Amino acid sequence: MHIAILGGGLMGTASAFFLLTHPKAPKSLKVTLIDRGAIGAGATVASFGNVRRQGRDFRQMALAHHSLSLWNRLEKMLGCDVEFRATGHIRGVFHQEALQDMQNFAAAAQKHGLDLELLDQADMRRRFPFFSQDAIAGSFSPHDGSGNPRLVAPAFAQAAARQGLVIRDHTQVTSVTPTKDGFHIQTPDGIIAADLLLNTAGACGRQVAAWLDESAPLTPYGPQMGVTEPLAHRILPVVGVWAHRPADVIYCRQVERGNVVFGGGPREDVALDPGHAKVNPMTTLHQIEALSRLIPALQGTAVIRTWSGCEGYVDDMLPIMGPSAGHEGLFHAFGFCGHGFQLGPGVGAEMAELILTGTSLTDTSPFHIARFQDETPKGI
Ligand SMILES: Cc1cc2nc3c(=O)[nH]c(=O)nc-3n(C[C@H](O)[C@H](O)[C@H](O)COP(=O)(O)OP(=O)(O)OC[C@H]3O[C@@H](n4cnc5c(N)ncnc54)[C@H](O)[C@@H]3O)c2cc1C
Repeated sequence: MHIAILGGGLMGTASAFFLLTHPKAPKSLKVTLIDRGAIGAGATVASFGNVRRQGRDFRQMALAHHSLSLWNRLEKMLGCDVEFRATGHIRGVFHQEALQDMQNFAAAAQKHGLDLELLDQADMRRRFPFFSQDAIAGSFSPHDGSGNPRLVAPAFAQAAARQGLVIRDHTQVTSVTPTKDGFHIQTPDGIIAADLLLNTAGACGRQVAAWLDESAPLTPYGPQMGVTEPLAHRILPVVGVWAHRPADVIYCRQVERGNVVFGGGPREDVALDPGHAKVNPMTTLHQIEALSRLIPALQGTAVIRTWSGCEGYVDDMLPIMGPSAGHEGLFHAFGFCGHGFQLGPGVGAEMAELILTGTSLTDTSPFHIARFQDETPKGI
């Protein structure tokens, strides 16, 4: 059995690893991972690196719990420290409307297996002294944290390569054609024939689906990031806010080397090809102002780099995951709407389970492409 995976980001590399290490994998299993660039150099490398369940859509929560359990074991599984640190995730509240949002989320989250510690102003000042004194409350998710977006996809790919994964990087797929018993994947170097195809092409996933007459309303956007000069390490958890208005979103984390990585604010338009989103300097200025309000000690800190990445946003803000609605042997896992870094290991495990056993570990039915079957495929 030959499975081709189109897209070597976190979803593609994690799927390759879990396919090749699955106890029910047939002895004859061959997996080929194809990417137009370097492995892990798409949206994955650009990620902020937040491994958070707090604030997540509840339909993703079971998958997110499973994924977190894998993040905790990745170092052992992959033989590489991908810098996952369960430092906790604190979100502050600055306005009454946001306080209500936080309380509503926390009450509902409990039913989905996520317990948040709700903190009043005094708790916030005592436990997180770096946080603005204007915060009136906050919620802390102690087991969430962050990972290194530059390490995780290459680590999955290398571990899968030790199990026989064939990597075809710097190989652009230009079309896919269904055949009698599989798929022909066209590349400049010739056709790759596979029995099964997994579409993990990220923001280009819609294009791949359209080649096979399936449609999903996905738009590529570039969320914007920045990083400061290295500073003495004072901020342990990942930090964010309960923002009632999207414009108020700001988040940051301090890496062990001292730099503070930050993001938030409007996303930029981005072309799929070559998929490098441009940074809007005005957004950086707003982010710096918001960051200084959030953590006053960061005022005047130098920003040494800014970047963005090309991520696929589906209209209903849920990913496309599961079997195709039209082709046997075709599977999708794309369009993670800015939330896929946390889910990545879980997505890989889910896709391996679905492909090799036809069952899933958690409920992935809300993510099926079939929910958009009435859309007309666009030949993009
Ligand atoms: C700036 C930014 C910050 C983010 N922060 C967070 C965060 O903090 N927490 C979180 O949970 N999520 C975050 N995300 C989202 C998360 O990074 C993504 O959801 C996740 O990395 C998507 O992985 P992927 O494998 O689906 O896509 P990608 O990493 O984009 O991989 C898809 C791959 O497909 C390849 N490809 C596409 N078309 C073709 C083709 N025709 N031929 C060959 N190869 C092709 C591309 O080259 C690419 O490498 C962020 C995203 C961005 C952009």
